[in-house]
Amino acid sequence: MSLLGLREFHRFEAAGQPFVYLVPSAAVFALDELSDALLRLLRDGDRPRDEVVAVLSDRFDSAAVTESVVELIRVRAIAERADLKVGPCTSPGFQVAARIIPLIPLSTMVLNVTNKCNLACTYCYEYGEDKIVDTENGRKPKFMSEVTARDAVDFMLKESGTSPRAHLTFFGGETLLNFPVLKTTVAYARRRAAELGKVVDFSLTTNATLLRPEIVEFLIENEVGVTISIDGPKEMQDRFRVFHDGSGSYDAVMPKIRDLLHKHRTRPIGARVTLTRQTLDIRRIYRHLTEEIGFSEVGFAPVTTAEGRDYAIENEGFDRMLGQFRDLAGDFLQAALENRHHGFSNVKETVEEIHKGVSKAYPCGAGLGLMGVATDGDVNLCHRFAGSDAHKLGTVRDGVDRNAQRRFLEQHHLDDKTDCHTCWARPLCSGGCYHEAHTRYGTTTSPNLHYCDWIRGWTETCLQVYGEIAVRNPRYLRVFEDMPAEKVS
Ligand code: SF4
Ligand code: SF4
Repeated sequence: MSLLGLREFHRFEAAGQPFVYLVPSAAVFALDELSDALLRLLRDGDRPRDEVVAVLSDRFDSAAVTESVVELIRVRAIAERADLKVGPCTSPGFQVAARIIPLIPLSTMVLNVTNKCNLACTYCYEYGEDKIVDTENGRKPKFMSEVTARDAVDFMLKESGTSPRAHLTFFGGETLLNFPVLKTTVAYARRRAAELGKVVDFSLTTNATLLRPEIVEFLIENEVGVTISIDGPKEMQDRFRVFHDGSGSYDAVMPKIRDLLHKHRTRPIGARVTLTRQTLDIRRIYRHLTEEIGFSEVGFAPVTTAEGRDYAIENEGFDRMLGQFRDLAGDFLQAALENRHHGFSNVKETVEEIHKGVSKAYPCGAGLGLMGVATDGDVNLCHRFAGSDAHKLGTVRDGVDRNAQRRFLEQHHLDDKTDCHTCWARPLCSGGCYHEAHTRYGTTTSPNLHYCDWIRGWTETCLQVYGEIAVRNPRYLRVFEDMPAEKVS
């Protein structure tokens, strides 16, 4: 007897019709009335194929039912278990995936050119209560030397293998405190890459306090992408993003940001907002940064913190954040339907991942296609672990320690995150940021179970946005044709 059973999927509705997000393949499939009825029928357990056809033939043509069965098997929404007499067909029992440890070329190197900062943001993961490296009294140099930065460029070009393009992101501390090294490194990277027939794409993250005309000119000339860390209108920016004397930074940075936005047209300038319990007015922040200041893209990230900190976003905070993200995603959808730009980058990035069928065995590129380099040239998982001996993967001089890298990838594979095994959002979440997990649970191997409801709620919203666009304006999805660099959060 041939039994039919459901495979693993998440059903959602968009544009007035049902869809399924097929978890093992991360594909999105639109359901017609018949295929929806067929999946509903199997919801209560496996059924023989003949019985499925017979039951649905009351409402649908039996040849169409048979065709629908074949189609749903093909897209792996259901499966046939021939000659199986007993036992339900429960997901994810169908999956027996062999673990493949990928060692892919480096695509993004984040260079921490300094670990010093001229601000003293209360929630800072580098200097605040949850720091993992002693940046104040540790043995790492405060500034990266020119020689180390050159070695890092050579390392990056070598580790990028046969790929024609590499992405170099400058980071800190406050990145522009080491502008002299940044400047010579860009020139060196350009020259070396050209000799090797490659191209380097440059970007940096800054708090904007040190932007001055000479630096702005340099960024324009060299087409350096810029992300500004900023938290919104004055009262929100000044709540946590303060100078060492406790004074707010809004008035100091805004004229410089306006000047940069006015002049720098060779690359889009993005804002990166840290959300806290006290600064959760997302719509207002978005409006201020786009309409009043002029940013083209704004990305939001909840503060990374141990439980119980004054500024930590806890349960109701995540609900509030989700509600506001949904509102803003609605605006994004409207703009996408009208082929207009909308700068809410969180939704855009997730919709892009859905469109490309991204399915992650690891939550991000850290330790894979993305690595962070500390001021002394140590290579770490990512910029947030720069300088942490416990998260070291080599040095720019000696290269990547493949054993350490393999060990890390073995220990952090999605298969080992017990709670994630049955979660439909795992192709996109895969347990979440290692740094967040380390801060929250003391280990990078732990999934971030404190925000699962938020992640699933947000993924559902993005699936709905995707479904609406796919039905109502599929041409818009062409904007996702080029593969971007690894995201630096
Ligand atoms: S961390 Fe939570 S939301 Fe993310 S994959 Fe795991 S169980 Fe799902
Ligand atoms: S998601 Fe977390 S671990 Fe991954 S690159 Fe970003 S900060 Fe690093």
